[in-house]
Amino acid sequence: MKLLQCPACGHNINLKHAAANQNVNGIFMLQCANCKQWSHESSKAAFFKKIGLVMMIAGSAMGYFQIGGGIIGPLIAVVGGLIALTTLLAMPRTIYTS
Ligand SMILES: [Zn+2]
Repeated sequence: MKLLQCPACGHNINLKHAAANQNVNGIFMLQCANCKQWSHESSKAAFFKKIGLVMMIAGSAMGYFQIGGGIIGPLIAVVGGLIALTTLLAMPRTIYTS
């Protein structure tokens, strides 16, 4: 889960394990408990995560209302889930330098 990893040392930094957090200009920042490096989600990762989530929600709604024959909706939801998951797994965080 690269989005939950410190880009400097690879230490796990989800909200529970972070040393500190702060919000700078709407960007949510976490500090690594191991090396004290601040980092945040890359804008690309945030973008793809949003796309994935929208596809999941839209696909689920389409499936629920049987739009597109009841197969297109779930398919879109699955693809959206995969995009969101791939983002979490493969997109590294960005090191914050003030
Ligand atoms: Zn670190």
